[in-house]
Amino acid sequence: MVDIQHPARPGEPVDGRPRVLCVEDNLVNARLIEKVLGARPGLRFDWVASGEAAVASATATPPQLVLMDVNLPGIDGATALARLRAHPATSDVPVVAVTSNAMLGDEARGIAAGFDAYVTKPIDVVEFLALVDRMVAVGDGAA
Ligand code: MN
Repeated sequence: MVDIQHPARPGEPVDGRPRVLCVEDNLVNARLIEKVLGARPGLRFDWVASGEAAVASATATPPQLVLMDVNLPGIDGATALARLRAHPATSDVPVVAVTSNAMLGDEARGIAAGFDAYVTKPIDVVEFLALVDRMVAVGDGAA
């Protein structure tokens, strides 16, 4: 619960745990990522199902990391990324694309779009957790 007397500053963990915001319209995929992140109980897992909801949630309570599906209803992940980058509260938040777009060139396009990293489904759990650890450290200003 957020203390309204002492509202969290941008980038400050809401409940003492770094917040990871998962943007995923597929419930099964969201649950899978939540399960994988269960290996990091020090992280708070939040989930939204659209890019619009991601922008609203992240700008209101900036997370330390966004895990962004690319193919979403409404605005796509790249558009949501652009809106996060354009907002002062979230311009520096690391955003990782998590997508099944595994065709040659997609990763390069994802990085060119401004994603901090690009993860292809099905995710490699060990690599994914290592990436999350690095990105949360960056989003925390610790690296
Ligand atoms: Mn999707």
